[in-house]
Amino acid sequence: MSIVLTGMNPAEIAAELGIELFQGRQVFRWLHQKRRFDFSQMTDLSKALRDRLLATCTGAAIQPEFVQESSSTGTRKALFRLADGESVEAVLIRDHGRITVCVSSQVGCALKCSFCATGLAGFRRQLDVSEIVEQPLHLLANESLEGRTPNIVYMGMGEPFRNYDAVMKSIRLLMEPLGLGIGARKITVSTAGDVKGIERFGEEDWQVRLSVSLHAANNELRSKLVPFNRKYPLERLREALDAYCVKTGRQFTFEWTLIDHVNDTPEAAEELLNYAESLPVFINLIPWNPVPGLPYHPSPRKRCEAFRDILVRGGLKTTLRQEKGQDIEAACGQLRRIHGKESASPTPKFQED
Ligand code: SAH
Repeated sequence: MSIVLTGMNPAEIAAELGIELFQGRQVFRWLHQKRRFDFSQMTDLSKALRDRLLATCTGAAIQPEFVQESSSTGTRKALFRLADGESVEAVLIRDHGRITVCVSSQVGCALKCSFCATGLAGFRRQLDVSEIVEQPLHLLANESLEGRTPNIVYMGMGEPFRNYDAVMKSIRLLMEPLGLGIGARKITVSTAGDVKGIERFGEEDWQVRLSVSLHAANNELRSKLVPFNRKYPLERLREALDAYCVKTGRQFTFEWTLIDHVNDTPEAAEELLNYAESLPVFINLIPWNPVPGLPYHPSPRKRCEAFRDILVRGGLKTTLRQEKGQDIEAACGQLRRIHGKESASPTPKFQED
């Protein structure tokens, strides 16, 4: 079995190969900072080590198979082929020189949110650390990042807290100073409301951001949109969020995707105002991205703005985000359905101002 090194930190690489720590650091730097996966080009390694890496290791666990780029926005979407033939997507979004990479944490998803393309096909398998961390490494391979570290959002396919350990390890690798060196505050993990995950996440000794996909603030509607709400209803979620904020002193975000006449009514906004009462929370409103075959429509601009205005008048910090990359279906992509296996459609849905 060929060894994959991208999911290991410098000390682990050194231990795995039985080499000196400085050599582990050199290899790590090539993979994570230079984002080069061809061992034969790692010119500062000894010839003997290079030959050994070539003979025993695989440079990259995942291969970008299909990369689509929007000429107007620079949004770039990659379909990655995994070693077992499965595939996942990740998206790179540009905004005023700022780069954000939206990463998948699982192949498929078990949570079956009724408006989400990923949920349609169900859960396939977990991604391992290298399959997660390589998504940004590949997408950023040819980006010069001088002076601007990218943002990473775990808002692609899957529920990150259902693959907790691999996701946390991938975050640690992205933060490694010898690698991309991304600051904790530039990394966001998004959950559909996994209370156990939120509790664990609150114990982590770092400033990585939390985002919670709320979409409805009454249990009846939320259980329809996010069936996972039946396991962790709003009251339980609120308790976990209160505890998280007290423990960490951190702010967090509620995601709310606006679906026409479903969760974009004035009553829904009032319910959110009530629910968010006294929480240190930002609200991210996003018009729903159409998924073929689903019985929903995005809220028209006017309804989005009316919803936002109620929240703002109620004192909530709120952003209404605009879709980018729809021309390449980056927001809720069908790439995998079109170009890959029919069975599951990954859906990085991150959108920006
Ligand atoms: N499972 C995690 C992370 C992946 S989904 C979570 O639920 O947060 C990332 C975000 O995209 C979530 O807020 C999700 O509800 C939202 N989303 C899913 N499908 C969407 C769609 N078609 N349009 C807009 N947002 C969508």
